[in-house]
Amino acid sequence: MSKIAIIGAGFVGSTTAYACMLGGTAQEIVLIDKIKEKSRGEAMDLSHGASFVRPVYIHAGEYEDCHGADIIVITAGASQAPGQSRLDLVHTNRRIMEEVAAAISPYIGEAILLIVTNPVDIMAYTAWQATGLPAARVIGSGTVLDTSRFRHLLGERCGIDPRNVHAYVIGEHGDSEIPLWSRTNIGGVPLAEFCQKCRRVCPAENREEIGRMVRDAAYTIIEGKGATYYAIALALRRIMESILRDEYSVLTVSALLEDFYGISDLYLSLPCVLGRSGVKKIIPITLTDEEKEQFICSATKIKSYLPAG
Ligand code: NAD
Repeated sequence: MSKIAIIGAGFVGSTTAYACMLGGTAQEIVLIDKIKEKSRGEAMDLSHGASFVRPVYIHAGEYEDCHGADIIVITAGASQAPGQSRLDLVHTNRRIMEEVAAAISPYIGEAILLIVTNPVDIMAYTAWQATGLPAARVIGSGTVLDTSRFRHLLGERCGIDPRNVHAYVIGEHGDSEIPLWSRTNIGGVPLAEFCQKCRRVCPAENREEIGRMVRDAAYTIIEGKGATYYAIALALRRIMESILRDEYSVLTVSALLEDFYGISDLYLSLPCVLGRSGVKKIIPITLTDEEKEQFICSATKIKSYLPAG
């Protein structure tokens, strides 16, 4: 029996509950929000679909209902307005994250914390510090979504199922993220070699253009419809499945770095092995000089938003 607690029943929280409900990810899902009518309304709406999916108990609750959860997902906080960067949310959301961390602390038990609130790398660090949990159990959703956007765009251009496009975005979930071109392969064939032999006319072979589209995807979606929630909900479900089923899947979550190219004591995304106890291992991936430089820039930027010391 798996239980997921979702704090923040807004667009992302409620869509994540829906995705988990469709996927049969957990037997109990509790939605918690500071606006009680919101969590109650979402839970009621979702639970009315219970006869169409595998058995699941979806309900609204209070912080103490985090008790017994396998995973606590935190999506509470402000979201980007059109034109706003994720880092613009840092002050408001740090306060909310500290408040939520204090409120749930007595009920965390053995749960894994999955942080989604932006700027996610800084919020994951904040939650880790505020709860005092082992770093392996505090995970940011990181660039799992950006990696999926990258694979989708490449798959479209190459005419290949994105599931067979092996590519990663690392670093900040934000404007300094890094698409790892050097490691991208399709069915085991490095991308450059694949492109040489490919007969498709590919107008967007331009790497910069693809990188920009991945990086700016959230801005484009927010401009169009006000928020992003479907793909992040699926990304979160994928992360949770890997944890709940002890899959040892490799996903680019945001994790505490310890001496990665000399970078320590901050959360950033790298390919990580995920299982029942959280982050099992960060894969020690080798970067090109250019990627290393970009990663260090990403780290320096994130570090400047963390409390000194
Ligand atoms: P939203 O405004 O729809 O929902 C946020 C919810 O949090 C609201 O219902 C609000 O009442 C609730 N809330 C605020 N403070 C709270 C508190 N102290 N306790 C409990 N609930 C509280 O926003 P959204 O679109 O769902 O986005 C939520 C967050 O997720 C934002 O920070 C957004 O930037 C982030 N996000 C992250 C990713 C990612 O890839 N990591 C993707 C999309 C959105």
